[in-house]
Amino acid sequence: MKRLALHWQILAALVLATLTGVLFRTMFDGVAPEGTFVARGLEVSTFIGDLFMQALKMIIVPLIVTSVISGIASLQGVKGFGRLGGKTFAFYACSSLVAVVTGLLLVNLIQPGLVDGQPNEVIKAAFDQKAAEASPEDLAKVAAASEKEPKDFLDTIKMMVPPNVFAAATNNGQMLGVIVFSLLFAIAITRLPADEMRTLREFFQAGNDVMITVTRWIMAISPIGVYALMFPVIFENGPQVFAEMGRYFGTVIAALGIHLFVTLPLVLHFIAKVNPLDHFRAMRDALLLAFSTASSSGTLPVTMRCVQDQAGVSKRTASFTLPLGATVNMDGTALYECVAVVFVAQVMGIHMGFGEQFVVVTAALLTSIGVAGVPSASLVAILLILKNSNVPNAETAVVALLAVDRLLDMARTAVNVFGDSCAAVTIARSEGEDLFTDKAA
Ligand code: ASP
Repeated sequence: MKRLALHWQILAALVLATLTGVLFRTMFDGVAPEGTFVARGLEVSTFIGDLFMQALKMIIVPLIVTSVISGIASLQGVKGFGRLGGKTFAFYACSSLVAVVTGLLLVNLIQPGLVDGQPNEVIKAAFDQKAAEASPEDLAKVAAASEKEPKDFLDTIKMMVPPNVFAAATNNGQMLGVIVFSLLFAIAITRLPADEMRTLREFFQAGNDVMITVTRWIMAISPIGVYALMFPVIFENGPQVFAEMGRYFGTVIAALGIHLFVTLPLVLHFIAKVNPLDHFRAMRDALLLAFSTASSSGTLPVTMRCVQDQAGVSKRTASFTLPLGATVNMDGTALYECVAVVFVAQVMGIHMGFGEQFVVVTAALLTSIGVAGVPSASLVAILLILKNSNVPNAETAVVALLAVDRLLDMARTAVNVFGDSCAAVTIARSEGEDLFTDKAA
């Protein structure tokens, strides 16, 4: 019998997890009594989900190092590198800006935190209640994360030059340092005598091939991992979340939807000259995985595989744009930060004029660069921006957002990953590469 394609298997796992999650949630009212089979099931599911996430994270550092070095060392000197770097950063800056403006427009238009122009007291009370109910782990999570995240833009720049590259490699939030080190290493390789240069190129190329094979193995079990990750999420996040925060959810999803289904496809069509539908098809494994894991770093191995094997981008362009993109280019996150901050300000009764919103836009753009590609990472940036904008009870609001964050996190992560892949094909096109998803083809 022919095996079902991987994306269908992942989709089936998502559907199955949703169905069983909703079923058991209805049966047990969202709380699994200790000792019951559902409680055991949740434990096993969380354990397998954690294992799967760890397997994905396990390969990130060796994959980034080998792919950046082998990809960039094949560039002819620093000249090509400068051009590629310039284009990549220009694309990332523009696409994030458009994303943030989309979010800002919608949150001002829909005003999810207001009722008849007044702060929504029901949501405010729900915020207070969620904060009062917050488990110590939730609070610890916010506190611990804010220790690790960069505090401002200068902090992000500092992280690019880690005092200890091995320490940076072991810290999830500091991939930027590892990338910069790998870039320097790769450029230095191109300056070596021909013999040594060839040896090192071949070494890192072979290392990269090995990591790609390991990625394939991990992806082969991804449907099980996806089920295990999703089942507890569906079981724990019931429909009442939507009842309280429905308009807020709607605003975020609509803004993300516009960016994903309108803005980026327009860029693909007009600038990259690629058929957007074909590109969605090429990226489906990565999109489904980003959605299920809520981690763009964790999805990176698969994003790289899809962009090269399905979209036809060269290794050189993919290995420069994608690892950087997974760390610094987060369209969905920047958009979300903006909507969340303005929403909280609305609920708290703080009026934000043009000037204040401009500050929020700038802060969202800059902090999204430093946010790590892991679940819920942007909440820390939201906390920083809220504090910076003098919104009262910022911690309370962030803990309340954390309680309902997972589904929005899944959606924005998929947008983050898709944004990176669009950058890769657009830049590949501008470098004169032939793509599989060529419109003319
Ligand atoms: N989970 C997101 C990502 O990995 C980051 C965030 O917005 O929290 O891309």
